[in-house]
Amino acid sequence: TPEKPKNFIRQIIDRDLAEGKHQQVATRFPPEPNGYLHVGHAKSICLNFGVAQDYQGTCNLRFDDTNPAKEEAAYAQAIEEDVRWLGFNWNGEIRHASDYFEQLFDYACELIEKGLAYVDELTPEQIREYRGTFEIPGKNSPHRERSAAENLSLFKRMRAGEFADGAMCLRAKIDMQSPNINMRDPVIYRIKHQDHHRTGDAWCIYPMYDFTHCISDALEGITHSLCTLEFEDHRPLYDWVLDNISIECHPQQIEFSRLNLEHTVTSKRKLNQLVTDGHVDGWDDPRMPTISGMRRRGFTAAAIRDMCDRVGVTKKVNTTEMGVLENCVREDLDRHAQRAMAVLDPIKVIITNYPEDQVEELSAPNHPQHDMGTRTLFMTREVYIDRADFREEANKKYKRLVLGKEVRLRNSYVIQANEVVKDDAGNITEIHCTYDPETLGKNPEGRKPKGVIHWVSVSHSLPAEIRLYDRLFNIPNPGSEADFVHAINQESLTVLTNARVEKSLQNVAPETRFQFEREGYFCSDRYDCKEDRLVFNRTVTLRDSWAK
Ligand code: ATP
Ligand code: MG
Ligand code: MG
Repeated sequence: TPEKPKNFIRQIIDRDLAEGKHQQVATRFPPEPNGYLHVGHAKSICLNFGVAQDYQGTCNLRFDDTNPAKEEAAYAQAIEEDVRWLGFNWNGEIRHASDYFEQLFDYACELIEKGLAYVDELTPEQIREYRGTFEIPGKNSPHRERSAAENLSLFKRMRAGEFADGAMCLRAKIDMQSPNINMRDPVIYRIKHQDHHRTGDAWCIYPMYDFTHCISDALEGITHSLCTLEFEDHRPLYDWVLDNISIECHPQQIEFSRLNLEHTVTSKRKLNQLVTDGHVDGWDDPRMPTISGMRRRGFTAAAIRDMCDRVGVTKKVNTTEMGVLENCVREDLDRHAQRAMAVLDPIKVIITNYPEDQVEELSAPNHPQHDMGTRTLFMTREVYIDRADFREEANKKYKRLVLGKEVRLRNSYVIQANEVVKDDAGNITEIHCTYDPETLGKNPEGRKPKGVIHWVSVSHSLPAEIRLYDRLFNIPNPGSEADFVHAINQESLTVLTNARVEKSLQNVAPETRFQFEREGYFCSDRYDCKEDRLVFNRTVTLRDSWAK
């Protein structure tokens, strides 16, 4: 197969290496620990760590932890676990923007001393008003022309905790008339009397993202700082800060488009709302587009990486269909998941000519094409089939069990339905069949039953809870709704409590993936599946049957 053309970022890297601008590539993945990672972050992770891998460079995991109000150590831990699970590892110790607080403070002082930053006392509302808009140029703060000495003294007193939140801030002195609003004297430090999950009460002033990020990159010797498109307008500020402080390294910021996925949201704020308001059962609910949610649902890391690869890296804004992700999952599981039988909605079949106490051990392959070993199925007089696999009458298109007709039990015999038993309400409670003992592994004489259905033995099967998941939102782009909560699919979870699974699943380990034949791909629940209570999550159906 011909090699795929390299994405534009890899082309830039190739050129930089060829020109000798760098000897080695260094990237970073910089999440803010204010929520769990989602499928969009997976794209950034695959890009940053993938580049480092392929160019024998390095990639740092750096927590962008400058906003103590929203950040927690528990989020940081979950992020670490998710990056590892996705199959990546970082260079050396985990980094934190908060590791650099002291250096960041010194660089801020340097800007002040150079007359490039000042302490402002406008209120946050006034700052907004003075900043102007795209049409209206900004105007200078009355505090803009303080002396460096006065600014330095005030900034140090800010750090010492002498002033209340919002009373003052430090601003870069750039250009209030700039057509780029980010350059209109951006705030680079604010006062926040709030403990930080790593630095405790050491600081009551915290640096802003635009000031922190570029310096953190430079301190780590990052060569290519890859970020999403919304930071394009921040690049002049990224460069301005690094150009005006005494630091050698000047990483190149390159922007790419975010990953958006249909039928879900990829904003931490919205995902947080789903969790907080109880629309889902936690950040790792299998319906969530979080990495931990997708993992719990049964998606593989390889499938998520494959999807990121197929989506590619460009500057084009677009939204990926859920089907792309689901097809990656199907392909991976079709190849790697072993087969098993589960009856989701059981109805009892009594095979009247099968000896009452007989139990036959039948061998079934774990995979139809690849050698993944075999397992034992138990054939008995009473078996369960799915209620949807039987009809009293049906036309020729229905290739399952019909009264008076034959069908094959997968990996077992051909049976024929002879009569049904019904309860008072008219519901079928039993189907009485006969089997043809000559049909194990071969067709019956002179006829060829069309259908094959799955089944389990009544006595040699186990009860299981099966959770069927569907898309969390009814519409392709819930994020664009006035209130995305209204677009939640109320039928996104169906719990089946009467299901039966074959006995080979008795001691299944958590997070084991299966194709339940004819039903779909399933995964034993990471937390709830125990020896005495089997729980399986449907990862994805066998085919894309979702009605748009
Ligand atoms: P959110 O908007 O969900 O809060 P964020 O960008 O604020 O996301 P961060 O924790 O700051 O979240 O993101 C860490 C990195 O992941 C950043 O470099 C960011 O650009 C990248 N990233 C976040 N969302 C996406 C996405 N949908 N597609 C690609 N990259 C993303
Ligand atoms: Mg961010
Ligand atoms: Mg954010």
